[in-house]
Amino acid sequence: MKKAANICTHAGRNTSAHGGLVNPAIERGSTYLYPNLAAMRHAYESPNTPEKVGYGRHGTHTTRALESLLAEMEGGYAARLTPSGLSAITTAILSCVQAGDHVLMVDSAYDPTRHFCDYTLKRFGIDTGYYAPLDVDGLRAQIKPNTKVIFLEAPGSLTFEVQDIPAIVALAQEKQITTIMDNTWATPVLFPAMKAGINISVHAATKYLNGHSDGMMGVIITDDAHWEPLLAGYTELGQSVGSEETALTLRGVRSLPTRLKQHGESGIKVAQWLNERDEVDWLLHPAFESCPGHTHWASNFSGASGLFAFSLPSCSEGQLSAFLDPLEYFGIGVSWGGYESLAIPVNPKRHRTAQPWTYEGQLIRLHIGLENPDDLIDDLAVGLERFAAAA
Ligand SMILES: *Cc1c(COP(=O)(O)O)cnc(C)c1O
Repeated sequence: MKKAANICTHAGRNTSAHGGLVNPAIERGSTYLYPNLAAMRHAYESPNTPEKVGYGRHGTHTTRALESLLAEMEGGYAARLTPSGLSAITTAILSCVQAGDHVLMVDSAYDPTRHFCDYTLKRFGIDTGYYAPLDVDGLRAQIKPNTKVIFLEAPGSLTFEVQDIPAIVALAQEKQITTIMDNTWATPVLFPAMKAGINISVHAATKYLNGHSDGMMGVIITDDAHWEPLLAGYTELGQSVGSEETALTLRGVRSLPTRLKQHGESGIKVAQWLNERDEVDWLLHPAFESCPGHTHWASNFSGASGLFAFSLPSCSEGQLSAFLDPLEYFGIGVSWGGYESLAIPVNPKRHRTAQPWTYEGQLIRLHIGLENPDDLIDDLAVGLERFAAAA
């Protein structure tokens, strides 16, 4: 099996088609011309292979390059790019369900995913049930005859529970239910989802795959059994991405394994330091035992990325601002996966229904970027002094 670093550097390239250039050309375009009518008829009648191009909306050679690279990394059959991570999620789910079906969604899912289920899916007669992230027996008990999808997100991007993916995959296979996993945190480098039996993986490529906070994108990767319905749903919904944005993501992916190694190492260093602090009561980092599902991370993931959370004592908004506002290296903002560090307060209470969030401490989510981790620690140390002084 090829190593992720070698796939990232060598897949999705066809130098002879680009005059010897290392990278594929950025094809801007809507219309592909054919030399004659017979050639056009032949192209339209030929099988819909994942590599085929024919009209700009359906993709260009630039988008195909990134799609084939990501499908190979994830161990999937083929991939399609979407304009955002959220559109990858909604398109994947819509391709698997019809009116009267039931979806089981993990309670720790990214909030806009929940919103889509509770409003859009509901309007079309599709019910969503939420399941506690770590309770596989409970999940089994919630399966109904009309359950078509079990949706996973591991670890949860606010609360970091790591699900027992092999157990959920086995259950879904037994019941012939499709598994869709939001694999944004780990990327295919740290967890190749299809090799673990997931049917469809989705990513916010906006995060680590792009890696430079300069573009939005999503990707859907499927096994061969789910490819045809996914492609139909994708095409009918009119999903399409531009080659410029694709080239930025492709450039990001070339260095993904190297970047992730640094995000992961620096993240663990900062987390270790936080874990020693008296103010910090709970560290939610999958590589630490205090994180629910840590053992599942240890047995299924080959490493950690740079996103995790820690707790501070319940505090006032003024104390939070005293901690966060003057931080030198941590920006205050959503998203993550870029080269820069970020810090935000999070409140999981608002987003839980199956398993209410009862913890009273104030969670802070950090994204550890590519800065020197010792400087990040110094920055946080001064921030915690300000936090104490503002009490
Ligand atoms: C950001 C994010 C998304 C959505 O991605 P966008 O590109 O912002 O639409 C989906 N899932 C997770 C886990 C995310 O963090």
